Amino acid sequence: MSGRRLPRLAHMSGPSAAVERLQPFGATIFAEMTALALERGAVNLGQGFPDWDGPAAMLEVARGQISTGNNQYPPVRGAAELRQAICEDRARNFDVEYDPGTEALVTTGATEAIAATILGLVEPGSEVILIEPYYDSYAAAVALAGSTRVTVPLVPDGTGFALDVDALRSAVSEKTAMIVVNSPHNPTGTIFGLAELSAIAELAVERDLLVLADEVYERLTFGLVHIPIATLPGMASRTVTVSSAGKTFNVTGWKVGWALASQTLLDGVLAAKQFLTFSGGAPFQPAVAHALRHEQAWVTDLVADLQRKRDLLTHALEGAGLSPFRTEGTYFVCARVDQDALSYCRALPASRGVAAIPVTVFTDHPEPWREIVRFAFCKTDEVLAEGIRRLT
Ligand SMILES: *Cc1c(COP(=O)(O)O)cnc(C)c1O
Repeated sequence: MSGRRLPRLAHMSGPSAAVERLQPFGATIFAEMTALALERGAVNLGQGFPDWDGPAAMLEVARGQISTGNNQYPPVRGAAELRQAICEDRARNFDVEYDPGTEALVTTGATEAIAATILGLVEPGSEVILIEPYYDSYAAAVALAGSTRVTVPLVPDGTGFALDVDALRSAVSEKTAMIVVNSPHNPTGTIFGLAELSAIAELAVERDLLVLADEVYERLTFGLVHIPIATLPGMASRTVTVSSAGKTFNVTGWKVGWALASQTLLDGVLAAKQFLTFSGGAPFQPAVAHALRHEQAWVTDLVADLQRKRDLLTHALEGAGLSPFRTEGTYFVCARVDQDALSYCRALPASRGVAAIPVTVFTDHPEPWREIVRFAFCKTDEVLAEGIRRLT
């Protein structure tokens, strides 16, 4: 259960001068697969970013901001209009209130919010529980904080994956400080329902744990509703919720994210964040505020589009003789390939002209995931159709 093994993220070209606690985190599999994809002219269904633009009016606001001189440091907490828009958006979508003055913090992507939450709130020597497979930055942030990760696996539930609540309960020790909960979940597309979230929440209350809720895919759900764990009983005061404009508005390169929490917790996040970047993305912040306020219809269309792409890719994977799992949100569908996933993914760019990611790279305990591959469907219809043509 404990995560003392090295993650399978390291594919380094040579020795690195990195400090010991960062030695396990070499160049990621994404770099290797993207290089292979480029070399082979493969369709890249490995990396999870959309290859088309976000709402035109939002892009126009950013251009206007640059032209009219919004190019210096924004406030450390982020532009007031963006914090206001974030809190209004949360209230509208999930019926939960945050004070934009004290309970919302704009960050350099969700990635900084995650790092600042762990660095600012978890003491060295504590344990942080990650649900595997997990997003790679969690493990690195835990290592940077001098704490230890303990992993609990998702388990197959027939057509998809579910949380092993008993395993989670037994993973909590005297040293546990925090549980990281990512729903909708990258890489499996699992959305935790009320039962699973309630089980996590009850455990957090009972054992007095913090929860870091990574909700960057909060809007990218196909039918099921996303429930923020912060809205469950006892959770408002112990949850830091993290999200980002990148996935909602097709601007992963803008790196405008945020953290929402009670003032006490958020002050801890802010204490770390101010010395990581202080602030950033000045011209993009008003553009994201615009999008949160005026581009809800665009997001609705995006979600319908992604759902259609999910169906296309899932169907194609079946047609290619693979066994895709159910995916309820995000950009991804996982499939069983009936052979070693890492070798499969290393060979795929040459054999089929497609790149994908073995799920084992997101785990400390790869065995149950040995034959599972993640494919991204957040690609234009042309790119996706070409990928599908090559796979089938
Ligand atoms: C993309 C992603 C992030 C990072 O978000 P940024 O805003 O690009 O920093 C964090 N968590 C998950 C699960 C993601 O997929």
